[in-house]
Amino acid sequence: METFVHMNPTKLIFGKGTLTRLAEELKPFGRKVLVVYGGGSIKRNGVYDGVMEQLRRAGNELFEMGGVEPNPRLTTVHKGVGICKREGIDFLLAVGGGSVIDCAKAIAVGAVYEGDVWDIITKKLYAPGALPYGAVLTLAATGSEMNAASVITNWETREKNGWWAHFNHPKFSILDPSFTCTVPLDQTINGIVDIMTHILEQYFHHTSNVPVQDSFCEALLRTVIKTAPKLVRNLEDYESRETILYAGTMALNGTLAMGAPGDWATHNIEHAVSAMYDVAHGAGLAVLYPCWMEHVLDEGAAKFKQMAVEVFGVDAAGRSDRETAMAGIRALREFWTSIGAPGRLADFGIGDESFEAMADKAMARGPFGTMKTLRREDVLAIYKLAM
Ligand code: NAP
Ligand code: FE
Repeated sequence: METFVHMNPTKLIFGKGTLTRLAEELKPFGRKVLVVYGGGSIKRNGVYDGVMEQLRRAGNELFEMGGVEPNPRLTTVHKGVGICKREGIDFLLAVGGGSVIDCAKAIAVGAVYEGDVWDIITKKLYAPGALPYGAVLTLAATGSEMNAASVITNWETREKNGWWAHFNHPKFSILDPSFTCTVPLDQTINGIVDIMTHILEQYFHHTSNVPVQDSFCEALLRTVIKTAPKLVRNLEDYESRETILYAGTMALNGTLAMGAPGDWATHNIEHAVSAMYDVAHGAGLAVLYPCWMEHVLDEGAAKFKQMAVEVFGVDAAGRSDRETAMAGIRALREFWTSIGAPGRLADFGIGDESFEAMADKAMARGPFGTMKTLRREDVLAIYKLAM
């Protein structure tokens, strides 16, 4: 294992009916609350009314900012920062999926910084502080509800940047699985792929002696693989929603990264795609992740074989490590296809004319990845495999 420090201060409040705790949770944080949300799903499914009722009961002074885009944009972060500075906001409440929470994270640091928050998002400067914020999650996918990471897109320059600040966790996150029952099929599938990819990104690395971490990853993957087909057949199946929601939080709240930080190359390669084409993050990952595995296979065939055997039950008898690993990659691809995830960049209308520009974006911070250090030619090869 590598040495590690783990701290996750987010208070996780999970289960049906837990929104009634909201007023109590807000008590320590001041009166002026800015509610941040997306394009309107919370108004259609009743979550907005429930949240507002709780806030009014708590006697807070309320401000609102809707319209956060999937793949949240810098312009929207600026708008939120402006409201916070103008109105003297004390607390941010993000109500939505990962995009809304990521946007609130950026507004929270921008609100206490005199310069442009883009300096922090592009890591020119480490965030000097932040307003406190909490979340009411409505979509299982990113783990943003219990981590300090955020991804923001500058649509003018077509840059999508992941950034974090160690102190910038939500103060609390309320997760009621019934709020996720209205997530449409495509976003449900994208969420499942994102969750599985977060686990895989932390499972593949060269760190030795991580049997506990490996077992956590394998158990989570097997559980998601068992639950997902049931959920996509019946989107309102509460128990499946509950399982996937919990798995999504556990996948990226720091637990799996203890002692082995993982690889994360494919997230970077995907961000370059969604920066240019605004494709859903999980959909992009479904196409790119198996291609990354194929490309780096010879750097870690033994670990890929372990996934094949432990997660997909591939029979390794009479096969080389490489053959078993390839069977595992095929099984992963087939599983994602079976639940309805896309399989090719062409499914988004993306052809090889933009590969060079996407590779430049992926390389903006230099070579990356731990399983294999990827350079520009590797990124191009992965895009070609994904065509
Ligand atoms: P999302 O972009 O937050 O939401 C996707 C869509 O689902 C939106 O159109 C949203 O509609 C809708 N939606 C959300 N909840 C719904 C509900 N209960 N019922 C019906 N529709 C609902 O999706 P996400 O996958 O959670 O977030 C993706 C973003 O997170 C990407 O930018 C990705 O790069 C980033 N990300 C962050 C992390 C992290 O650690 N912070 C990790 C991975 C990815 P409305 O807008 O109308 O609400
Ligand atoms: Fe992700």
